[in-house]
This record gives sequence, structure tokens and C-alpha cells, in this order.
Amino acid sequence: MAITTDVLILGGGLTGSTAAHALANKGVRVALVDVHDQIPNVFKAEKAGPHSLPQLRRLGIGDSVEAVGRKLFESIDAADGRILRRMRLGERGYYYHDFVNHIRKQLPPEVQFIRGTARRIETSDNLQTVQLASGETIESRLVIVSCGGASQLFDQLSITRTLVIEDPAIGFAMLIEPAAGGKFWFDGSGVTYYPNSAAPRISYCSMFSVPGAMRINMFGFHDVKSTWVHELVDNPQAKLVRTFPKLTKLIGDFRVATKVEVMPVRPSVANGFRRPGFVLAGDAFSTVPPSTGKGVYKLMHDVEVLAELVPEWIKTPGMGTQKTSTYYDHPQKREADDHVRMKTLYQHWAATSTTVRAQVHRMRFFADAYIKDLIGYTADLG
Ligand SMILES: Cc1cc2nc3c(=O)[nH]c(=O)nc-3n(C[C@H](O)[C@H](O)[C@H](O)COP(=O)(O)OP(=O)(O)OC[C@H]3O[C@@H](n4cnc5c(N)ncnc54)[C@H](O)[C@@H]3O)c2cc1C
Repeated sequence: MAITTDVLILGGGLTGSTAAHALANKGVRVALVDVHDQIPNVFKAEKAGPHSLPQLRRLGIGDSVEAVGRKLFESIDAADGRILRRMRLGERGYYYHDFVNHIRKQLPPEVQFIRGTARRIETSDNLQTVQLASGETIESRLVIVSCGGASQLFDQLSITRTLVIEDPAIGFAMLIEPAAGGKFWFDGSGVTYYPNSAAPRISYCSMFSVPGAMRINMFGFHDVKSTWVHELVDNPQAKLVRTFPKLTKLIGDFRVATKVEVMPVRPSVANGFRRPGFVLAGDAFSTVPPSTGKGVYKLMHDVEVLAELVPEWIKTPGMGTQKTSTYYDHPQKREADDHVRMKTLYQHWAATSTTVRAQVHRMRFFADAYIKDLIGYTADLG
């Protein structure tokens, strides 16, 4: 016999798990399907900043990031071997899988978690039917598709995607240790280090404490098959020093303690989503370059809007396009999507443009931050 529910969430990453939490807390009957009982170790968002923390708290999952994350005492911007500015932003460093798995553990008992892979989906104005790889069928009034940016389900839903920028974005992650042992001077804080020019096509590298270690994540715009990426994977230490020649002046001699994790991303946005029966949320709606640091911000807006609208939708019959479109047209979602799109274009330009304007922009950013530090200005947001 088919399982029936009011809302079926396909994909229990950060978007789906948070949505399940938020909707169940509003009394909505929710089932959550994910391939994994426990999200495996995967390189995705690892830092929550001053913008996403209040959102996480509003959605009732602030405790999860506190439980698995490490509070960063200071957030330091640096370039050319020196500190540009220090800020107290209350950022948290965490591992994505720890964060999502903790949220899953905290789900209200009413949420029905089903381990499985959604294979087939049929949607209509009233009832949606999803078939899992196991053959099990689930019927639901609404389906929230939150299965990330690449899914076979998109074809069945006639969803296509448009690239926001032609260049592929990419993220790299590894752990580093001081060469002489002990701890880095910035242990317990985070340092964002910018390159001097657009030559390496890198936005920045971000060094920050996660529980028990020092992470270094680097974001930019390279094809995963490029020589640049191969060189980094083969000899990360040498490539880091070539990319940021004065990095050791700032952080001291270091060694790379793990293999490089490489995560390519094609920043894209979905088309053809105004349909009955389902909505797209999180990366399923749009993906951003990791350098924007906006993936969590964007998906939390999606979840906040859904938590406002869905309890009202299910009070009346039907789940037509008129209803589902109000989500995409919601001013909060539109504003967040526009902001993230602009940020994507900006990050790409700032990291890759070799024009004089871009170089002047870079120098002005460095000078502005440095002057603020000299006059003792410190952003203190938590
Ligand atoms: C390298 C990297 C670094 C990043 N860094 C940052 C950062 O610093 N700050 C920031 O804000 N954002 C960052 N992001 C973006 C952020 O991680 C994403 O926006 C966020 O993870 C999206 O979450 P999601 O739940 O929408 O998708 P996902 O995390 O992709 O979750 C999708 C889930 O769906 C499940 N699933 C897929 N298909 C099916 C199916 N058919 N049936 C059932 N389940 C299915 C998967 O198992 C998975 O659990 C980064 C992204 C990358 C790749």
C-alpha cells in the first residue's frame, strides 16, 4: 500500500532536512526521503557567518550548528603576507555532514524518514506520486524537490538548467598543520587570504578551525580537468605557495596533512519550474560558486518562504500552479535569488578579470580594509 502524506521532501541535505524540521514544527505532515540514513563525509558548506546564523536560529536549527561547529573568535582578512582587518563575526566552522546529520537527529518524531532513492515522479493539480528504487510508492499533496543541482528527476519534471556563468567554478579542501608541530597562531579563528591578481583565477583561500583541525578551503574558477587542478592535486603544498607567495610569511611554514578534496560546481538556475504539485528548493533551484559563500543563505530563504506558505496551501484543496508560483514570486525569495546572482557575477569578475578596473578594485579593497585596521575599526557582529 502507498504511503500518504501532505508534504514529501525529496533529498535530505541541508535544504530538505531543514525544511522537514520547519514544516513539522508548524504541524504539517511531512515525509523525508534520502538515499542515505546518515549523510557521508562530503565537501560542501563548512562555515556559517553572520547572515546565515540568525536564519538558522529562526528556523530552529541554531542549536545544531552550535553543537557540531566551532566558534571562530576572529575573522581575519589578509593578503600579500599581512593582515588587512580583523572582525568579530561570530562565524562557526563545521563539517557539512555533521551539521546535516545533527539536524536529522533533532527532527520531530512526527517526520517520517524514508531511506530510499526517488526514481519516478508524476505530478498533477491534486496528488503527486513518487516511486522509490525499492518499488515503494509515496503519495503526497506537495513534493519539495531538494535533491541538489544534478538529478535525473529534473528530466521527468521537464526542468532544464541555464548556466549563470560559462566558466566552471571549483572548490578545494584539505587540512594543514604547522611544519614545526603545535598550533597555528590563528587557531580558533578564521583567515581569508586573497591573491594579489587574477592570474591564478582564485577568489581566496579560507583557513579556519573545525573541531580538532585546521581546514584550508580554496575557491576559484577552473575546469576540473585543467593542468592547474592536476598540479594542485599532485603537490598541494607547492601550488598553494605559488598561488599565495607570501602566505608562509603570515601563517608560518605549514604542511598539507591530507589529500586534496576537489568539488566542481556549474553555477546554474532551473527553468520551467512553474508547475503544479512540486517546488524546487536549495541547490535544486539554483547552484552558486562556493566562493560566494551564499549557498546556505539562499537555501535558508527558500525554507523560510516554504515554512510560511506551505501550511496555508494545504488548508485548501488542490496544488495547482497558482499556489506553487507564489513561492517563486515571494519577495523574500526573489530578493535572495537576485542577490545571489549578482554575487555570482561579481565573484567571477573579481577572481578572473585582468582589466585595469578589476586590478584597481582589488587594490582599493585591500587599502580600505588595511586603513580600517590601522584606525582600529573592528566589525563586531557576534
Ligand atoms: C565545495 C563546496 C563548498 C561550498 N561552500 C559553501 C560555503 O562555504 N558557504 C555556503 O553558504 N555554501 C557553500 N556551498 C553551497 C552549499 O553547500 C549548498 O548550497 C548546499 O549544500 C545545498 O544543499 P541542498 O540540500 O540543496 O543539496 P545537497 O546538499 O546536494 O543535498 C541533496 C540531498 O538529496 C539527496 N538525493 C539526491 N538525489 C536523490 C534521490 N533521487 N532520492 C532521494 N534523495 C536524493 C542526496 O543524498 C543529498 O543528501 C558549497 C558548495 C560546494 C560544492
